[in-house]
Amino acid sequence: MPGVPKNTKTENERNLNFWERLYLPEIFKGLRYSFRKMVREPSYTTEYPDELWEPPDSYRGRPVLVEEEGKPRCVSCNLCAKACPPMAIAMQSREVDDPNSSKEREPAWFEINMLRCIYCGFCEEVCPEEAIVMSKEYDLTFHGRDEAIFGLDRLLVPAERLTDRLDYLEEARNKQENADAWQHRKDNNLHSLRDRKYVRELAETEMPELKNTHLRSETPIAAANTWEGRPSSDDA
Ligand code: SF4
Ligand code: SF4
Repeated sequence: MPGVPKNTKTENERNLNFWERLYLPEIFKGLRYSFRKMVREPSYTTEYPDELWEPPDSYRGRPVLVEEEGKPRCVSCNLCAKACPPMAIAMQSREVDDPNSSKEREPAWFEINMLRCIYCGFCEEVCPEEAIVMSKEYDLTFHGRDEAIFGLDRLLVPAERLTDRLDYLEEARNKQENADAWQHRKDNNLHSLRDRKYVRELAETEMPELKNTHLRSETPIAAANTWEGRPSSDDA
């Protein structure tokens, strides 16, 4: 059985005049306002995906690894994996055999699970080498969960294509007021090289046992080993 209509009008509610009760004049007033805005104001939307949005340099898209001269800049320190809140990063290190290389280690493999990644930028924040940065890519699609795990082949991006972000980081990172010492400096990233020089000096003078710990030996330790089940070089 239908209920009894109840008037819920409050005391202060404005009474509509005759034209407002007709509705149509108000509708045309609204349309005139929309049309005026359409013609006079710039458009704030894009025809995606035909027209792609170019994010600003501060945008945090999917994380990528910086590639320099065909190799990852990453020294495989594992800091980003430790800092990653949803544990999206996994990697395995290996020693670099090239004696001319400025690095002691590099990733044997490196993976980011893009389904877990929350684009927080913590990995970029903690990386001492600026080897992982947030790109401008935001349109990721996958056909399955396995496809969402990106290896080195999909993570490595040449540094020349990341200059926007690298320049932005140099400009914007650690800009605390009255704290010049904390401002980002490129030569801060050479700490691993400085450490190696210091350890080499120690090894050459009075602490030869260091050769088997932090310092890469003259004969590569890892040459005869595979990474699966191999003993740590610290055990040698
Ligand atoms: S952006 Fe955040 S969630 Fe994504 S890989 Fe980096 S630390 Fe992990
Ligand atoms: S923090 Fe940087 S250098 Fe260290 S493992 Fe991650 S990407 Fe590589």
